[in-house]
Amino acid sequence: MSAPSQPALPVVETFHSLQGEGLHAGRSAFFLRLAGCAVGCSWCDTRHSWERRNHAQRPLTELAEELAAAAAAGAAFAVITGGEPLEHDLGPLCETLEGATGGLPLHLETSGAAPLELSGRFTWITLSPKRHRPPSPELLAACDELKVVVHEPADLAFAEAMATRALAARSGVAPTPALLLQPGWNCRRGQDLAVDYVRAHPAWRLSLQNHKWLGVR
Ligand code: SF4
Repeated sequence: MSAPSQPALPVVETFHSLQGEGLHAGRSAFFLRLAGCAVGCSWCDTRHSWERRNHAQRPLTELAEELAAAAAAGAAFAVITGGEPLEHDLGPLCETLEGATGGLPLHLETSGAAPLELSGRFTWITLSPKRHRPPSPELLAACDELKVVVHEPADLAFAEAMATRALAARSGVAPTPALLLQPGWNCRRGQDLAVDYVRAHPAWRLSLQNHKWLGVR
């Protein structure tokens, strides 16, 4: 009888760099990019991650070893990204990573596109909702930061609608998420819209893709 196969997930890449975006921008982080995404954003810069069959299945224990090495080398937290990571059950991954690092913080970056459900346990959840695939109430209630990509004026109205829904989903109990507008990369119109909007609406702040400006991963 053959031994049962180890739990594994399709992985696009892993790397230790700086978080480029959001409230944790500028901090040392280990990135784990999972394959698989059916959300289909027209501006997606990680299209190579969409098809999970194109990427090797890697054992969770091997990923945990890599994270532990990155933590020893200075990574302050791990970012589970994609693709759309919630297309997988992240519970076993989080347990394995936590066990190997003694509880290094785990961050999740997700579109939260309904009907995806939250799995795994995270200390920080970045929700980047998409107009064509709005997020589930569960993710709106759970996110620590709401990061909306801006290309055109309709994205600003969408951002406000998402902030209102996030507040409603919390019933005034959980803290309000940080509200971030992030111009689409190389989108001058998005930059102008986001800067003007943040200037006039102090509840929001600007998020830039610092890693792209710096030319690092
Ligand atoms: S959810 Fe993310 S990975 Fe998926 S298509 Fe949109 S931007 Fe790309």
